[in-house]
Amino acid sequence: MEILIVLWLGLAVAIGAIASNKGRNFFGWFLLSLLLSPLIAGVLLAAAGSKQTSVPSASAHGWSCVHCAEPIRIEAKICPHCRSTLPEVDPRVLELYPQMHGNFRYRRQPDGSVLMATPSGARRFANWNEFWRAVN
Ligand SMILES: [Zn+2]
Repeated sequence: MEILIVLWLGLAVAIGAIASNKGRNFFGWFLLSLLLSPLIAGVLLAAAGSKQTSVPSASAHGWSCVHCAEPIRIEAKICPHCRSTLPEVDPRVLELYPQMHGNFRYRRQPDGSVLMATPSGARRFANWNEFWRAVN
């Protein structure tokens, strides 16, 4: 009997660890495994998939805080990680998107495409006409 309890607990911990790796709550999934059964929780967890983390600009450009180097959004005014105030216009934004149209910062690429800075990261347009239609 004890072996079953140990196995149950061990599997519940494993489910919690897997959930934690997927960006989910360790303790919540551990409890769910204990109550339902590690098997059912495991199936649920597989169905739930990975949680999306919301740092798209960081993934697009390796954008990071100038103070703590944690990934942040390009337009962040205060770093969500270290609470530092960030420069009004980050010099790296100017470097990446040197041109400006209205309120849009953009960069023309050598291949003719256009990259535009957006709150959720870089948006790519195949050519100048597409960009122009989107911003006018
Ligand atoms: Zn920071």
